[in-house]
Amino acid sequence: MSENKINCIGVMTSGGDAPGMNAAVRAVVKTALIHGIDVYAFYQGYQGMVDGGAMIKKMDWGSVGGILHKGGTVIGTARCMEFRKREGRLRAALNLIERKIDNLVVIGGDGSLTGANLFSEEWPSLTEELLKKKKISKAQALSHPKLSIVGLVGSIDNDLSGTDMTIGADTALRRISEALDAIDSTASSHQRTFVVEVMGRNCGYLALISALSSGADYVFIPERPPESDDWAEELCEKITTNKKAGKKKSLVLIAEGAKDKNGTPIRSYDVVDELKKRINEDARLTILGHVQRGGAPTAFDRYMSTVLGYAAVRYLLEKDDDQSKIIALQKNKVKVIPLMESIKNTQSIADLIAGKEFDKTIRLRGGSFRESLETFNTLSNAKPSKKRDKDHALNILVMNSGTLAPGMNTAVRTAVRIGLDKGHNVFGVRNGFKGLIENHIEEFKWMDVEDWTSVGGSELGTNRKQPKNRDFYEISKNLESGNIHAILIIGGIYSYASALDLLKKRSEFPAFDIPIVCLPASINNNLPGTDFSVGSDTALNSIIEAVDKIKESAVASNRVFVVEVMGRYCGFLAMLSGLATGAERIYLHEKGLSLQDLQDDVNMFKKAFEEGKRMGLVVKSEYANKIYTTPFISALYEEDGGDIFDVRQTILGHVQQGGNPSPFDRSIAIKMAVKAMDFLVKKATKNKHDVVSIGLHGGHLDYQNIEDLERLVDVNYHRPKDQWWTKLEQIINLFGRSSAKKS
Ligand code: ADP
Ligand code: ADP
Repeated sequence: MSENKINCIGVMTSGGDAPGMNAAVRAVVKTALIHGIDVYAFYQGYQGMVDGGAMIKKMDWGSVGGILHKGGTVIGTARCMEFRKREGRLRAALNLIERKIDNLVVIGGDGSLTGANLFSEEWPSLTEELLKKKKISKAQALSHPKLSIVGLVGSIDNDLSGTDMTIGADTALRRISEALDAIDSTASSHQRTFVVEVMGRNCGYLALISALSSGADYVFIPERPPESDDWAEELCEKITTNKKAGKKKSLVLIAEGAKDKNGTPIRSYDVVDELKKRINEDARLTILGHVQRGGAPTAFDRYMSTVLGYAAVRYLLEKDDDQSKIIALQKNKVKVIPLMESIKNTQSIADLIAGKEFDKTIRLRGGSFRESLETFNTLSNAKPSKKRDKDHALNILVMNSGTLAPGMNTAVRTAVRIGLDKGHNVFGVRNGFKGLIENHIEEFKWMDVEDWTSVGGSELGTNRKQPKNRDFYEISKNLESGNIHAILIIGGIYSYASALDLLKKRSEFPAFDIPIVCLPASINNNLPGTDFSVGSDTALNSIIEAVDKIKESAVASNRVFVVEVMGRYCGFLAMLSGLATGAERIYLHEKGLSLQDLQDDVNMFKKAFEEGKRMGLVVKSEYANKIYTTPFISALYEEDGGDIFDVRQTILGHVQQGGNPSPFDRSIAIKMAVKAMDFLVKKATKNKHDVVSIGLHGGHLDYQNIEDLERLVDVNYHRPKDQWWTKLEQIINLFGRSSAKKS
């Protein structure tokens, strides 16, 4: 396909700042330069475009160095009144034409994108006016007949219709969860109620996902007001019931745009006052405010924004129509969508909320939003909504298995409560298959799992044991004596293999003839049938935080860091953390590693350092190569680097398995556990006995027969044959160069 001829691209960040904007700017600049396109940044958004002069800067490879990990936006952002008027846009058009810019990448919220679209629509008339006023020549007007716009959505609220995630939303969720985890510990000590206000004028996403993933008691969002006319009554009743059931502390989340049924705003201090007045609750208010925008972007906000920035420039090169577009993320894929359609849909949600059409609003928000709300309502109760029917109650086992993955507890808590809520008995197995063999099985009560949502590790205990030989007999005996009807196994690849073993041994042991679901939990993300496994997002974030610190430690210049990350034979952690930290090279088992590669890379670094580079980063997956180990690679780099650079190696180790689960890991753990329990109950009730794994595949939750395991997995290396992220390597290779020129 022939590419469009582009001379010059402009890039800007506008509206509210959002963590991840820098990653997007860096990607746009690097991609443009690689394609031989000049690129200018407008400082302070539209203000820079209108003012011109020093506010419009030509960017080079070095201008976007060292910004990937920074919060905010290094090129600045502002609100600009002048740009709202034609006069301002006329000045902006002149500034663009003088620099031959007729392609713009605008990174901002719906306001900024609307402005960009208007600018593009007006462009012919603006150039005509400039020509008439003799500000530009005829030739200039003719050579810039149109202005192409591509938008990236930067907004922490995740409020734009058409993209699953906006730049900054994942980081905002993380900041909120950090704050809630901190509040949680003080709340437990004082048995208080905390009311926490988060951002979101027309969008309850941050509030809802945070409430769900923190185990809150109540949430106020704009899309779904409390059902009762007297919202305070409804709230107080819930808090009182939960306290009576044994909850020591309570947490209420409120989105800044929360409303009651009549459309009257519910303010966070009103919530606090009502709690005090009606039930004498010593409630404390925290308004998180700008904390949510601040700090270093998460791994996801860095790599997703990098991918989107790259895609924006590729789109301009490949596009065949003149409509303004947005580069969106849909179902874990990059999609180009019409800009105005998406803005209109976003606006219509705001209108529906204003018009109190809440059912329609929820419908437009999509199935997943509604399900999250329903799940929240169930999980936040003090007891099951249904009485147990002794004659029909199933006995369901829940267990962890394999290596630790943050989010295992979140999944167990959800499974237990969903199972109990459906009127069944739920039992926990201690320490994985070892516990199942030794019959360490305990019945769960609703409140047993109250505090499990946000803690890392495995409260149930986990173990890497896989059943063998006589173990199956013991397991069968224990399943029979416990009259077990279904099993949920939350774990990694070995637990999948064990589930398959149980299936294969059914003719020998009839007790295994029950439905089983495997829920993917592994920091390695090496499981088939899912794009993400529980724990991998937390591990990625632990890695990038460590690498940020390692990079900061580079006081001495000319140093290459070789960082080894986990993953066994799966390069997911290496690839994604490499993208998110700006590694020049990544070494993966999938791709292989030869001595020649290593020598080429050392030479690349040598040249780069000679040209002025000061720091280099190599991320290596732990089993990338049996012979070329991390110490070997570091020694080779050190020796061949000579006086030009020195080398430090870091093997990150178990920090990658620790820590509280990230909001995304909690969120997928909850979603998958809900679906898994639905599946088990449905199958066991109908006497159907499928053994499946559940996964989040292309944005959907679906099931995979466990028999397919052998077909989908590379059995030698315990990773899926098809891994969605492998194609991202081209971006690392492009951006890892020492300059725009091919080395
Ligand atoms: P966000 O992009 O975060 O939604 P704003 O709505 O404040 O933030 O928009 C940022 C800037 O974009 C405004 O200050 C203004 O310069 C420009 N802008 C917004 N809406 C329009 C519009 N309808 N026409 C022209 N410019 C606009
Ligand atoms: P929804 O409820 O609409 O599915 P989610 O918040 O679960 O919304 O996220 C939507 C999609 O965005 C996910 O399916 C995933 O592709 C992507 N996503 C969001 N956050 C992350 C993250 N931290 N890591 C990886 N992907 C993410």
